[in-house]
Amino acid sequence: MESLEAELDRARDLDVAALADAIVEIGFECTRCGACCKAETCGSEDGDENGESEPHTATVFPDEIRRVQDTGDEEYDFRDVARPMPYGLEDGPAGPEGETFEWALQTDDCGDCTFYEEREASETPHGDAGTGACTVHEDRPLICRTYPFSVALGGTSQPMGEAVDSEGMVRAHECEGLGRDISRAEAEDLAAALKERAIREIEEAIAVRDAYEPVETGPGEVVVHDSEGQKRPDGTPLD
Ligand code: SF4
Ligand code: SF4
Repeated sequence: MESLEAELDRARDLDVAALADAIVEIGFECTRCGACCKAETCGSEDGDENGESEPHTATVFPDEIRRVQDTGDEEYDFRDVARPMPYGLEDGPAGPEGETFEWALQTDDCGDCTFYEEREASETPHGDAGTGACTVHEDRPLICRTYPFSVALGGTSQPMGEAVDSEGMVRAHECEGLGRDISRAEAEDLAAALKERAIREIEEAIAVRDAYEPVETGPGEVVVHDSEGQKRPDGTPLD
């Protein structure tokens, strides 16, 4: 397997024009269906009543959390924005415990992203009820800016499961807007964000690796190792 440093070089060498070509080839226009902002079943049409659903899990970097905290007119607490990524945590008697290596966007009781708002039909441009809006649109993290695409490089994340389509280095994930026409200019913007995200993800992975220090977690204790060190679930440093 290539080292993260070698993957970072490859990410920095990504050709935005080639990524844009691939995006044009695959095609995409967001219908604002909200599927990429919601829990897998709860809150969607086929949601079950027992709340048996996979909560939304989108990776967010420490600086992205701070940007969302200061977004627009609102001031959010750290925990309003992010929660420890549940992967790797264990179910202890007092709740989740253990170590994890990422932050995820905070979710509501339904498991949807906390910043997702469903709109009434009268409030949407095309009058379609159930169409969603991101309340932190301008400051949303890179993973949201680039959905449903990712690039096939080691050290980068593949959102929402396996790719459903691919072209060159670009992978496309579950999304009802795939296959629609996209302008060259929009594809280039998306491609530039996709390259930025690939670089950031690998830089974060390197920094997490380098900042890692083993920590003994007690019952009910959760520690997040991020690119800035070891933190409690409220984002404060451990020491
Ligand atoms: S799943 Fe696709 S079409 Fe639906 S909101 Fe997300 S990006 Fe847009
Ligand atoms: S931050 Fe916005 S775009 Fe990202 S998952 Fe939440 S509602 Fe969706």
